[in-house]
Amino acid sequence: MAESAQQLPYFYGNITREEAEDYLKQEGQSDGLYLLRQSRSYLGGYALSVAHGRKFYHYTIEREISGTYAITGGISHGSPAELCHYHTQESSGLVCLLKKPCNRPPGVQPKIGPFEDLKENLVREYVRQTWYLEGEALEQAIISQKPQLEKLIATTAHEKMPWFHGKISREDSEALLLNGPKINGTFLIRERDSNGSYALCLIHNKKVSHYRIDRDKTGKLSIPDGKKFDTLWQLVEHYSYKPDGLLRVLTSPCTRSDYRSTISFTRLPELPGQHPTNWSAGGIISRFKSYTFPKPGSKKVSHGIVNRTESFSSLNPYVTRPRTEARGREVTKDSMPMDTDVYRGLYEDPEEFRPRTVKIQRDHLSLMEQDLGSGNFGTVKKGILKMTKSERNVAVKILKNDNEDPSIKEELLKEATVMQQLDNPYIVRMIGICEAESWMLVMELAELGALNKFLLKNRDVVSEKNVTELVHQVCMGMKYLEEKNFVHRDLAARNVLLVTQHYAKISDFGLSKAIASDENYYKAKSSGKWPVKWYAPECINYYKFSSKSDVWSFGVLMWEAYSYGQKPYKSMKGGEVSLMIESGKRMECPGRCPSEMYDLMKLCWTYNIEERPSFATIEPKLRNYYYDIAQ
Ligand code: ATP
Repeated sequence: MAESAQQLPYFYGNITREEAEDYLKQEGQSDGLYLLRQSRSYLGGYALSVAHGRKFYHYTIEREISGTYAITGGISHGSPAELCHYHTQESSGLVCLLKKPCNRPPGVQPKIGPFEDLKENLVREYVRQTWYLEGEALEQAIISQKPQLEKLIATTAHEKMPWFHGKISREDSEALLLNGPKINGTFLIRERDSNGSYALCLIHNKKVSHYRIDRDKTGKLSIPDGKKFDTLWQLVEHYSYKPDGLLRVLTSPCTRSDYRSTISFTRLPELPGQHPTNWSAGGIISRFKSYTFPKPGSKKVSHGIVNRTESFSSLNPYVTRPRTEARGREVTKDSMPMDTDVYRGLYEDPEEFRPRTVKIQRDHLSLMEQDLGSGNFGTVKKGILKMTKSERNVAVKILKNDNEDPSIKEELLKEATVMQQLDNPYIVRMIGICEAESWMLVMELAELGALNKFLLKNRDVVSEKNVTELVHQVCMGMKYLEEKNFVHRDLAARNVLLVTQHYAKISDFGLSKAIASDENYYKAKSSGKWPVKWYAPECINYYKFSSKSDVWSFGVLMWEAYSYGQKPYKSMKGGEVSLMIESGKRMECPGRCPSEMYDLMKLCWTYNIEERPSFATIEPKLRNYYYDIAQ
């Protein structure tokens, strides 16, 4: 896996340009001495500082959309470390070759950026208050969507800052600023138009100066001829540490009247005339010790569908949103799992659905004409379930009526019994059983259908990052299953259903078994109609099933996903596959599969059960890789 910048001895984190120069000076500032630091203006970007001819040169390293890194206009590299290594051989555009890394002095750790510090708290509060999640559901949401949430927070966090006044006129901003003690450096930001341009209004010698902040074609923000930033808070951070073309640095915010101060400051604002030299360690934002969103109203809001394109302000937690209104909102292609109504179980709202109600009355269920799919037992149809306060779309597995075989009904009941015990956002939940003209198993609906078919159809529009996101969610669901001591025994891409392009759920618990507490595997009495190509050697040879054999299947599922729905082992027969595995051979890396993910697949295909990792080991590996590419 690409070395993370954090691990590099010459990475200093969120230090300023001047601090970088100080470190280079301390190390003798020989030609080609260099260090790496975090960009203070570009999200996910870096800066390279190089000493040459008694001077210092600073290069911005941008993180590109593809996840690669490049000095503006230069060649792309897989990681900042690779970029630095390249420039030890080729100067191509740099003032000189990079000769010697300026490593951090003993005891100096990479400096944590002001936003990094706040981020975790912000993300947690945002998820809690936007989707009303707590406990496990909250943790799972953060784990699976961390990169998206961090970006969302970073680009909208300014709306929660005391200096952000929204759309007020130039005159109003002047009135606000001049109304107080007219301290130099007091500032605010107002929105100029809806095209994403703003104005920075700043007191200097008892007058207000207005600086336009424009957004360029790539979305970057800057005052005319000034440094460019991804976010307003980064801009404020920068100008609160040095004037850099402004009449003076930004000192204290002119707080908007409706601002509810839940931010605690670590230091008091400076006194008039005092130059805030000791602010260079961070600036305005780093003085926020912690941040808590205002508490939502006491009335609980239903967790319906929320359109994420809304900003913080329109997601005002004081506004209680009736379910019907929320349901009216579209789940878009980019929706997060929490935006859908199958993220949390139905049982969580006792007013909607009695806890663990298993029997569903026929008149509460209407079935649609069209089939979603079919299997041994019969068909699966879309349906609508009437609940106390609202309705919900569901999937209904309907047992064939003409079926003489009582074992099929038994199988369906077994599947229902397993599903009833599981409650996780990445597993299709059972809602209940309806006994009417046929036996019906009512489940959460995952409308986009099976993962393998979806990927086959959409291979051109689904990125590898998207595949990794989905595979990671499956891994989260499997980790849960492992913790609950259940073995799935039929884990395959055909049994992963998609709610949206970014939300996968494990389904088909027909073969699943709970493992007795005194055993760590399930022993089948005989081999049946088994998905041999997905089975670990011990399943075939000894009929032994455990979470570790599910791990093997998960490796095959990963292979299916990264090959965009291809069939594993092509046209080989089951017996031939077994011989291949016994001989130590494994499937090759699919064309579009990142090498890191192929390595993980091969780890899942470790022959020896004891050496094969568990889901608890695989999930963090997959998570780290996903965060790395999705940052
Ligand atoms: P068998 O039980 O014989 O193995 P199967 O594996 O094909 O049959 P399922 O996977 O449970 O049975 O369902 C068949 C198809 O119905 C699925 O491939 C899928 O397209 C659709 N389907 C099943 N459950 C749902 C659901 N919860 N939401 C949406 N579609 C579903």
